[in-house]
Amino acid sequence: MIYDVIIIGSGPAGLTAAIYTTRANLKTLVIAGTKWGGQLQLTSDIENFPGFPEGIPGPKLMNNIRKQAERFGAEIVETDFTSGDFSKTPFKIAAGEKEYTGKTIIIATGANAKWLGVKGEQEKIGHGVSVCAPCDGFFFKNKNIIVTGGGDSAMEEALVLTGFASQVTIVHRREELRASEIMQKKVKENSKIKLLLNSEIIEILGEEKVTGVRIKNTKTNQISEMPIDGIFVAIGHTPNSKIFKGIEVDDEGYIKVFEHSKTNIPGVFVAGDVHDKHYQQAITAAGFGAQAALEAEHWLEAVE
Ligand code: NAP
Repeated sequence: MIYDVIIIGSGPAGLTAAIYTTRANLKTLVIAGTKWGGQLQLTSDIENFPGFPEGIPGPKLMNNIRKQAERFGAEIVETDFTSGDFSKTPFKIAAGEKEYTGKTIIIATGANAKWLGVKGEQEKIGHGVSVCAPCDGFFFKNKNIIVTGGGDSAMEEALVLTGFASQVTIVHRREELRASEIMQKKVKENSKIKLLLNSEIIEILGEEKVTGVRIKNTKTNQISEMPIDGIFVAIGHTPNSKIFKGIEVDDEGYIKVFEHSKTNIPGVFVAGDVHDKHYQQAITAAGFGAQAALEAEHWLEAVE
């Protein structure tokens, strides 16, 4: 069996692409991953996705998009991509124990949260160190916690955590936050959130679980210790592109786009956060998914 389109990834980009390809009557397989749905599965309320005036929880939005793709016949397998041969068409894709063949490929594997890379971090993941407030916030009821980062993700994590923690301190390495005005305003108006600027976490302390952090003031270089029950890291993302051999990436690992959604390999297209370092929004990822699907459709029309 040869699929017209194999989509790798099942966030808003991948599943929107599937809605478009199936509606164009293209036989479509989505390699969704064992944790399908992408980053929105870890997001509480999405308030800026058009069509939901009251907002919508991330997992609910993803379930809706998935159902929509399945309604038009998308086949979805919840296994992880392991390898792909992009040297000749039709392309061979291995996922789980199986191999699949597709005339075109859409890569929509998104991006993953970055870690600080400081001493004490990796071994305490799940023991006070986290990258997901909606997933782990519950474990920090009435605790004192830190969120590190100065972008919208950090603001969002901090706001979610105020539902559980007694106090949330945002630790950011510069004087100015990078987050949007509206998110900054929400944070500044929340009495449970404190800002600690010009500060960098240089070590996470504790034997089995987090008990504190060492912090460097980036202006004075002064080092201090702060007792804390948990730390949420929200410092941006790394694109999930390393698994693809032969697909060109830029120096940060984002897949290079050559004209619309085309990669360096004819017949292989890309959509969403794995190529987009500028917008990284659910709605832009969905838009890129639609674009890649239309490009794949045109490409198939031209070669067949
Ligand atoms: P981001 O905007 O790139 O912000 C990353 C933050 O982490 C920056 O403040 C950066 O500091 C800091 N940082 C990076 N590396 C660091 C390190 N090693 N140590 C300490 N701090 C570090 O990433 P993001 O917040 O994940 O947002 C990504 C995109 O998603 C943005 O377009 C954002 O608007 C969007 N987003 C939107 C929403 C929403 O609208 N509700 C929610 C989440 C994300 P510097 O500022 O000093 O570089």
